[in-house]
Amino acid sequence: MTTIQVGTARASAGQIIYGWLDGVTLPTGGKDRFPVIVAQGDRGNGPILWVTASIHGGEHTGLVVAQRLVTKELVSRLNGTLVVIPTLNPAGLRTKERSPYYFSSDPNRSFPEPRQNGQQPGHNSGETISELEAAYQRIYQAISASGADLLLDLHNAQIGSLPMVFRDPVFYQRGRGNGLNRQEATALQARLGALLESMGFSIINEFAAESYVDKRLHRSVSGAVLNGIGIPAVTVELGSWMHVDPGVAEAALSGIRNAMRWAGMLDDAPEPVTGIPVICPPYPVRRHVYPYAPQAGIVHHLIRPGEPVRKGQPILKMADIHGRPVGENPNGTLYSEYEGYVIAWQHGVVRYQGEPIMVLAIRDDAELVRPYPY
Ligand SMILES: [Zn+2]
Repeated sequence: MTTIQVGTARASAGQIIYGWLDGVTLPTGGKDRFPVIVAQGDRGNGPILWVTASIHGGEHTGLVVAQRLVTKELVSRLNGTLVVIPTLNPAGLRTKERSPYYFSSDPNRSFPEPRQNGQQPGHNSGETISELEAAYQRIYQAISASGADLLLDLHNAQIGSLPMVFRDPVFYQRGRGNGLNRQEATALQARLGALLESMGFSIINEFAAESYVDKRLHRSVSGAVLNGIGIPAVTVELGSWMHVDPGVAEAALSGIRNAMRWAGMLDDAPEPVTGIPVICPPYPVRRHVYPYAPQAGIVHHLIRPGEPVRKGQPILKMADIHGRPVGENPNGTLYSEYEGYVIAWQHGVVRYQGEPIMVLAIRDDAELVRPYPY
């Protein structure tokens, strides 16, 4: 049996153990600490699932779901070990901000570079990494050392957005190196697909590989774990941020337990995911920010998240501040260039020229197994 120790929490068969893992040292004394819950089934061995939440401090559904997931009843029928970090961003959670107040970039782009295998010397030689990145490196190493089999990282997206699970690209190494070879990457992408299917949520492919790396999504929690540790890892989006929808929270609990069934951690039948819309397109879809405001104005949406959209369908009207149509088209109407689904509205109705208005899920023809693009 492997000994699983995460910070001060050491797994014990049939028990729920609570502990802490040190984060950033505060100049005013004390430390930010990551809470840790390690719940292990009676038999001790079995698959290991990590559930992490709230790396963005304004995203609270995952925190609540992580807390509700771990019950004595669940542990009594658990095969394997569940490691839960209810928040990966205690500072941001206190201030309800996406990033910690002491960190200027996105914490969910700050896990170790997958190709570095958790050894993070710095972005450039000679540069030291921030203490938050060092703390995330320790978490990454704890995930790796625990022998984790899969990871789910819980988030919220825009207000009113479709709950969904993202499918990230898997990268392989050309020639010699310590990354996955093409065959291993293909097998991992297939396992990731099976995990996603098991959960019962809408499956949306992440931005295509080059754009994915440009956006530093390979350094998100799930991106780093998927491509660095080489296990299925998923970003789970649970609808509106700063607001816990009870239906979404229940759906998330069902989806996570379904993932546990897929992994062999629970023996009973999969649960139907209810309380949220689920889209089942006949082709793979990827997230695509669209449209962008052709001119400044006020947006009147004609289609909402979860609804299908046809090519040429009117999706919104742009008006001036008096409510009169603006733009080249009659009535200020914008027509979709794509077939797919609306998955989110960007916040608010006021747009400067060039600002994004919606997020669609459109047909994805990109390869999900790619050579490292960086
Ligand atoms: Zn997030």
